Amino acid sequence: MLPVTSPAPPSPPTDSPAAAGPYRRLHAWLLPDYNRRATAYWWTVVALGTAALAYAVRRLADGSAELWMHLLAGTALAIVAGLFPVRIRQSKTSFTAGETVIFVLLLMHGAPAAAVVAAAEALAGSWRTTRRWSSRIASPALAAIAMLGAGSALHGALAVVQAVHAPGQAQNAGWVIAATLVMALAYFVAISVLLGILPRLKRREWLRGADLVGVFGWVGMAYAGSAVVASLVFLAYKVYGGGVIVGLVPVLAMLLAALHHQFGRQEAAVAADAVRAEAAAREAQLAVRHMRELEASERRYQHLAFHDSLTSLPNRRRLLELLKEAVAAARAPAANDFAVMFLDFDRFKLINDSLGHDAGDDFLVQVSHRIQASLRPGDVVARLGGDEFAVLVRQLAGEAAVVALAERLMEALARPFHVAGTELITSASIGITFSRFGYTTPEQVLRDADTAMYKAKGAGKARYALFDTHLHTEVARRLRLEGELRHAIETGQLALAYQPIQELASGRLAGFEALVRWQHPVDGTLAPGIFLPIAEEAGMMVRISEFVLQCACRQLRRWQDERPAQAPLLTMSVNVSGHDIAHPAFVARVSRALVESGLQARQLTLELTEHILMSRLECALAVLTELRQMGVGVAVDDFGTGYSSLSHLATLPIDTLKIDRSFVARLTEGSREAAVVRSIISLGNSLGKAVLAEGIETEPQRRQLEAMGCELGQGFLLAPPLSAEQARVVACGEAWRELPLHGAPYAPYAPDPGHTSTTIH
Ligand code: C2E
Ligand code: MG
Ligand code: MG
Repeated sequence: MLPVTSPAPPSPPTDSPAAAGPYRRLHAWLLPDYNRRATAYWWTVVALGTAALAYAVRRLADGSAELWMHLLAGTALAIVAGLFPVRIRQSKTSFTAGETVIFVLLLMHGAPAAAVVAAAEALAGSWRTTRRWSSRIASPALAAIAMLGAGSALHGALAVVQAVHAPGQAQNAGWVIAATLVMALAYFVAISVLLGILPRLKRREWLRGADLVGVFGWVGMAYAGSAVVASLVFLAYKVYGGGVIVGLVPVLAMLLAALHHQFGRQEAAVAADAVRAEAAAREAQLAVRHMRELEASERRYQHLAFHDSLTSLPNRRRLLELLKEAVAAARAPAANDFAVMFLDFDRFKLINDSLGHDAGDDFLVQVSHRIQASLRPGDVVARLGGDEFAVLVRQLAGEAAVVALAERLMEALARPFHVAGTELITSASIGITFSRFGYTTPEQVLRDADTAMYKAKGAGKARYALFDTHLHTEVARRLRLEGELRHAIETGQLALAYQPIQELASGRLAGFEALVRWQHPVDGTLAPGIFLPIAEEAGMMVRISEFVLQCACRQLRRWQDERPAQAPLLTMSVNVSGHDIAHPAFVARVSRALVESGLQARQLTLELTEHILMSRLECALAVLTELRQMGVGVAVDDFGTGYSSLSHLATLPIDTLKIDRSFVARLTEGSREAAVVRSIISLGNSLGKAVLAEGIETEPQRRQLEAMGCELGQGFLLAPPLSAEQARVVACGEAWRELPLHGAPYAPYAPDPGHTSTTIH
């Protein structure tokens, strides 16, 4: 038995040897990683081994020449056999044919001879397998001790057996084999224990039974084989003399070479298996990690795909999924009814455009929190995009509960928001629909909730509306009008009404505002509020505006030609939409309308609502500047309902502020509206802009506005929107000095189905 590898890799000694000088240097060179105990053990083994060898050599000194020849041959054979070790699996030990040779010599010549050869074989083995002198010295010492002990015991045992069983006769073969077997195992145990103690001592541990257990199976086999072979060789030698040994050596050599080869292959296969197993384990580990990563990214993807990135609320896709389930549940026998609310904010675009997108985002996040806080645990709120949210109310506890929820939501959303250092007050319009309408797809549900929301907006915003089947009809009508509007311009169905504008102080006619009407062949005269939103959505706004612009300019020019004395003092106001302002050819169109009609630029005023102006500030600024340079007037319509800042008002090329009629309508002495109107008037005065109050319906309103210093007025009290013919009488007749015209025989130009066309009067 040989230590195949060197002892554990050097580590700094924990105990330093007590001795100094040469011993310390020797220790540092020989046993650098040995602590005090391991050092003591090593020296003890070496001393005992040396003593054992000395004793053995001493005993052999007087031996015959044949003995020495056997010793030399045996040593050589053992060393050569050591070159072909049979490694024992999972152990640091190996078995060599040298063991057999040593056992044969033990049986033939006794323990001292075997001890010398075992020491020589161990020296050769350790020389080959380790560079450490500590091992090269200790290995032969250990072998000598173990063999001397085990071998002496064998001979002692055989002598006893001989004396008891067959005094004076040849040795009993069975006893020889059995005793040799026992000796071989004792030799192994001795050498393993002696060897195993050393690394344990270095780690300050005790030898454990487990250190030996792992190798017993193989060693048992190898030693049993060696012991049996050696005892058979010995017995044959006894009977047939030295020739047997000479004959057996090649047989044994071949056997061991074959074993060496076989075990080597096995070892390589085991090593390859181990490498493969390790690779497989690594791959499995990688696969598990990969799977986990995939699962995590799948979860991330799922979240991204089904949630809104800004608010983390479910998105439209997720809502449609949930709605699908809700629709199915409502159609099931248990009929789990549900409701859906569609929410839209009434001024979100304005917030976004005037305070920036970050503020808009912040607002939406706050909104999402407020909506969530108002819901019951089972309800789901989703963000559909922009400022559109939807709420799915499941396990419906009656429609009244949904209405109560809508009211709660509106109340929560009407409280001021603090965004980008500004306090914002906004409102939501909510459309609600219920599963009782018998939906079959989630899209139908959303469509109807959306329709109801438009109904709420149309009814004046900041309110909720319930979907009813009547709305289906409205939607259908909307679609029909969209189709018909495309032909309305070509077929001459669009016409203009003209509402006079008066100087409040003098009562003099200042001009007209052109207001478009649709003379629908079936539905009668339609107000712009009905068809302009359809035109905007269907992309027809620019064509309509062009028609209005050309028609209005030509009309005023016509009146001027008719009454050159008074009409030239009048102006024509034309409303323009956000689409017009954004259109690259808008300025060119205005100047063409002026050129074609022969109207002077200063006689034309373009009206933009405050919302449009603020939401398209950048392009509006460039366009209005150009128009101003041409001489065209600019009025801000519905002023007071948007978020114009003073800095914008001061820098924008604006001539007139048109106070929204909602302020005029509630104008009573001391009211909040009166304060607003007063401040708009003084703002206009200080910025050098004309101020016009629209929607004057009563004499007190007119008087109050006049008293406040409001320059211009417009409203049903003064004159309703008039047909072209009626307006011609005002513009060209004597009546222009006599406004207000109420009491005059002019019917407002609205439901007048008989009246046709764009004829200019
Ligand atoms: P607007 O420019 O503010 O026009 C004034 C609206 O107030 C008109 O409604 C007019 O009929 C109405 N009105 C006038 N005096 C009174 C009053 O004393 N009391 C009340 N309650 N209402 C009064 P209309 O003609 O229905 O137009 C509504 C809006 O449609 C207009 O508001 C304007 O923004 C838009 N619009 C009208 N014609 C055109 C057009 O040709 N192009 C564009 N882009 N928009 C137009
Ligand atoms: Mg207007
Ligand atoms: Mg207005």
